Amino acid sequence: MMERIWIETKTKQYPLFLGEGVIESLPDILRQLSFSERTKVLIITDQTLERLYLPKLRALLADDYEVFAHVIPGGEEAKSFEQYYACQTTALQCGLDRKSLILAFGGGVVGDLAGFVAATYMRGIRYIQIPTTLLAHDSAVGGKVAINHPIGKNMIGAFYQPEAVVYDIAFLRSLPEKELRSGFAEVIKHALIRDRDFYEWLRREVRTLADLKGERLQYCIKKGIEVKASVVREDEKEAGVRAHLNFGHTLGHAIENELGYGAITHGDAVAIGMLFALFASERVYGVSFAGHHFSSWFRTYGFPVSLPQQLQATRLLAKMKGDKKARAGTVRMVLLKDIGAVEVMSLDDETLLALLYEFSR
Ligand code: NAD
Ligand code: MG
Repeated sequence: MMERIWIETKTKQYPLFLGEGVIESLPDILRQLSFSERTKVLIITDQTLERLYLPKLRALLADDYEVFAHVIPGGEEAKSFEQYYACQTTALQCGLDRKSLILAFGGGVVGDLAGFVAATYMRGIRYIQIPTTLLAHDSAVGGKVAINHPIGKNMIGAFYQPEAVVYDIAFLRSLPEKELRSGFAEVIKHALIRDRDFYEWLRREVRTLADLKGERLQYCIKKGIEVKASVVREDEKEAGVRAHLNFGHTLGHAIENELGYGAITHGDAVAIGMLFALFASERVYGVSFAGHHFSSWFRTYGFPVSLPQQLQATRLLAKMKGDKKARAGTVRMVLLKDIGAVEVMSLDDETLLALLYEFSR
């Protein structure tokens, strides 16, 4: 079943099409968005997707549009100045103009890079997100696009909304399990910060990662997107509630950073970060999540549930303070007063260190 969700931000509204096989509707969707025939379309994708699906995507568009493709190597390293420059070169060589269209066909890496290319090519041309990972339910919504600088991740970017998002869950069938789990951490995050009913549904309906297919997968993506979209609607540019999306990420980023990018998936790091945030919430607010057995729940999906042994609390704290969302001196932690009820709290070094030590015991 194809669903249509409206994504609304202050600057723009656009549709997200979700379902098994929705990619087949891409030509119709482009017509609805009034792209004229012979529009130049540049598909930006990575090598894995090129091999699996690019011929099919090209064939869908070949009759009506002038189609080009630019293929980047996979992985986080592709969000670089070099790859950004190479995309711009291709766009110029293919003669894309202000009426042309970029299709970001892939996971969050492709989405962030291609979105930033679109945001800046000739001061901004239109683009469409075609996500192919579960994590991309997060990255394809909200309009944050960026590349990395060697000094920091996502440091060079823009807020730039797409014309549409076309999310065909059939693509996710080839997704490796560890990537599925990584994206599922963000699904859980979205449930925990804003939607208790959805959280309870997850507990009932998703017993193992193998349940993440068909209607259940679609429901996870839909609910996750609804939470993300509602946060973005209130706060497109991260002045307030958008910070809630950082639940699990303050420590999660520190773990990724300390282990070195690629050593752990983003979702695995965020899973540990969420368990820490839940633990910290109990200490700070005197609430108890004991009945939820979060650790054993996370373990059933294969998430790590404790800090990797080699990591030192003092170094993690330093990294948490280096987080670009830190305010002078303290770390702003996103905590939960209850499932679905977020509270942002500034914690000082001493408190955080004590919590980290206790958490790692
Ligand atoms: P990714 O794009 O690197 O994809 C993960 C891996 O899966 C890659 O190797 C890719 O080739 C492969 N893959 C993708 N789709 C596949 C499919 N259908 N079948 C088989 N293999 C497939 O990573 P990701 O996890 O999707 O995204 C991570 C990125 O997203 C990070 O760079 C992160 O900063 C960014 N992100 C951005 C936002 C945002 O708001 N813009 C939010 C969250 C994350
Ligand atoms: Mg994240």
